[in-house]
Amino acid sequence: SAELIDGKKIAGDMRKVLKREIEEWVQNNNTRPPSLVAVLVGEDPASQKYVHFKMNAAKEVGITSKTINLNTSITEEELLDIVNKLNQDETVDGILVQLPLPEHVSERKICNAVDPQKDVDGFHLNNIGKLCVNKDTLIPCTALAVVELIKRSKIETFGKNVVVCGRSKNVGLPIAMLLHSDYREELPGMEATVTICHRNTPREELIYFAKRADIIISATGVVNLITPDMVKPGACVIDVGITRIKVDGKTRVVGDVDFEGVSKIAGHITPVPGGVGPMTVTMLMKNTFQAAQCLKAST
Ligand code: NAD
Repeated sequence: SAELIDGKKIAGDMRKVLKREIEEWVQNNNTRPPSLVAVLVGEDPASQKYVHFKMNAAKEVGITSKTINLNTSITEEELLDIVNKLNQDETVDGILVQLPLPEHVSERKICNAVDPQKDVDGFHLNNIGKLCVNKDTLIPCTALAVVELIKRSKIETFGKNVVVCGRSKNVGLPIAMLLHSDYREELPGMEATVTICHRNTPREELIYFAKRADIIISATGVVNLITPDMVKPGACVIDVGITRIKVDGKTRVVGDVDFEGVSKIAGHITPVPGGVGPMTVTMLMKNTFQAAQCLKAST
């Protein structure tokens, strides 16, 4: 049966190293610790939980952090104003606006309002653009998490077949971007042959591509999308999906993959929870440190 890729353990190890690196950087530069501000609009329980995880991780690695809680009635203009103030605040290195935002606020407008140098989520148009032309920049944390898990599990990607399920601009697309691109670029790519599947990919086509894949990455939020019959024996299966379901009155978090069934076929598999999730939060901390270093170097 498949080897478990223990995201929680890997994330814990990385955070210990990061904590040391941050301490050293603070000492060597005689500067304040990196700082992160999260903007949370409304009271969505999932969003609250994610921000809570991020704040805890910041504490763990020695990043100063703060959450700005706002009411859903906030206007786009007011939110833009808050983001602008954070952009100008020299004590802030990283800004993240937790998505989703209320319907009357344009997420694209808000993401583009964040100073690209402080854009630790990597959602600003400039940063997405740089990623697409293989320039080193702030890259979406989930994509960094997936790549890190693959690398640390010593999974070969060069010339291998990869299927990415999901094409969202924040998750599926950046994952596909990093995996398919050229390793000789400034931002080294992983040289895989990547197929992107999405909601309008017919099931039989998804099965066709998945069966040929050495790595399947699923980022859809569709429970049981990936079943054992579509996995090549020995393949690596990375489950990015997060769905909350009720079982016996209790809320449980599940991924996109039929974990029990697929574990019997795959060579490597990530659990949900405890796989990509904790790694994503860790990569946010790395991005915040990176932003702090760049901002310090430019002053
Ligand atoms: P999204 O709703 O923006 O995108 C979902 C994607 O799934 C779309 O591109 C859609 O075309 C595709 N899709 C839907 N049905 C499909 C099907 N039958 N076959 C193939 N593709 C299909 O969501 P998102 O923001 O991209 O997030 C995707 C999932 O990843 C969600 O479950 C989200 O909660 C989770 N997520 C996890 C992390 C993490 O750290 N683990 C981070 C971000 C998002």
